[in-house]
Amino acid sequence: MRYQNTYVNLDPRLYHKQPPTALKNPRAGHFNTQVAQQIGWSEDKDLMTRWVDIVGGQYVPAKFEPLAMAYAGHQFGQWAGQLGDGRGLLVAQVLDNNDQPQDLHLKGSGLTPYSRMGDGRAVLRSTIREYLCGHALTQLGIPSSNALGFVVSDTPVRRERMEAGAALMRVADSHIRLGHIEWIASFAPDLLIEFTDYMIDTYYPESRNSEAPVLAFLQTVVERTARMIADWQLIGFAHGVMNTDNLSITGSTLDFGPFGFMERFNPAWINNHSDHTGRYTYQNQPAIGHWNLNIWLPHFMRLEGVTREALSDCLAPYEATFMQHYQQGLCRKLGLPHQPESLTLAFDWLTLLEDNLLDYTNSFRALLGLIAPEDHAYERQLLATLTHELPSEALQVWKDWSARYVEHVQALSLEQVVNDIQTTNPVYVLRNSMAQRAITAAEQGQFEEVARLYELLASPYKVQDIATTLDSTPPAPNAPQMPISCSS
Ligand code: AMP
Ligand code: MG
Repeated sequence: MRYQNTYVNLDPRLYHKQPPTALKNPRAGHFNTQVAQQIGWSEDKDLMTRWVDIVGGQYVPAKFEPLAMAYAGHQFGQWAGQLGDGRGLLVAQVLDNNDQPQDLHLKGSGLTPYSRMGDGRAVLRSTIREYLCGHALTQLGIPSSNALGFVVSDTPVRRERMEAGAALMRVADSHIRLGHIEWIASFAPDLLIEFTDYMIDTYYPESRNSEAPVLAFLQTVVERTARMIADWQLIGFAHGVMNTDNLSITGSTLDFGPFGFMERFNPAWINNHSDHTGRYTYQNQPAIGHWNLNIWLPHFMRLEGVTREALSDCLAPYEATFMQHYQQGLCRKLGLPHQPESLTLAFDWLTLLEDNLLDYTNSFRALLGLIAPEDHAYERQLLATLTHELPSEALQVWKDWSARYVEHVQALSLEQVVNDIQTTNPVYVLRNSMAQRAITAAEQGQFEEVARLYELLASPYKVQDIATTLDSTPPAPNAPQMPISCSS
């Protein structure tokens, strides 16, 4: 691997250097060969043969320089003060095959000075959810952390019940969160200049070409965040806990806890059982992204030449960037050009899904069964299920809508329409029930289902033989929701 451990050269107040605390008897859960190749891990024999010991915290390769980062944050809208890596360590920084920086971060690695009341550990179920979700989003084409692999162990961990301790080697382009700046502002304001330079030089070097590099950097963070959230909305992903300590400065999805993929379409859906006020519903995500950035940006006013007005100008493009990306993406999901008539059609379509609690993923994909039925047997079946589920009044609404839709499509190249639909509407997303089946088996020591889901989600836009009907079956309408909480 091409090591580039630079965080460890920053001011020591920003982190605490320490090794991981080993898990007992770590055993392989799954290994991501694609990530291993991307970061150069697979070229190092020692790393390859000892990956389980490394992820289990039993062996620290000589070039690793593990440290826990300090950060702070706003949680559920409230200032939470100092947080930091309470159960994870940044173990190494590398350059990947594309010369992009990647952090290796061991999650579940034991106590640190930032553990507060926690035990420093992660349990198997949350580790599997994070492992599969990072992979799923990455393969869907959404900026996200991913992971090299995970292990399970004999270390007992107490949650609502006793569970097995596990650990995951997370790989992300950065582990700097919005909350890092909130920590600096509160606890070490003299570091703001140095840290801002570090963020720009490491992650946004192109901003140096601008007349005002700090403002160029901040505006790019705003735009990337807006685009990431638009991607979430389009795919039906709800992060579940968009606190400022869980948002990366690179606009990559980070920190998977009570996330979920939308099944039966309901914009007010909350996957997170701990979110009693509904702050992080699916439909609130764009506004919360804005809220987080709005809390974050004013800290930069301490820098010379950065005014309140200039910061407002950085934030201003958020909404337009989100809208442009979302609306364009929504039109593409229907295979239509980005224009007002397509949007009207798209919003009517979403209303139909919402009114009838139709499955978000399957319904979009079913459109192939409508416009190109001969080549799309799987999607024909989805369409049959969709129309079967509609009550008779809604059936007429569907017929009217589909007639309008087909008319639009007829004016276009069918090949292009099919291609757009196929490449923007997955066949498979990580439904809670799918993750849960893999977890139940893994808790019995069986990891084949994790491996199967890994394969399935590696090509989410392709109909696959290894799929079962359960992989594309939503829960019954109005079925009680599976409880997914912050406990992990
Ligand atoms: P999260 O909700 O996972 O984003 O975590 C919020 C904060 O709590 C972070 O500072 C975590 O490091 C910390 N934390 C979460 N779980 C634990 C744990 N089991 N032990 C120590 N710290 C934890
Ligand atoms: Mg977090």
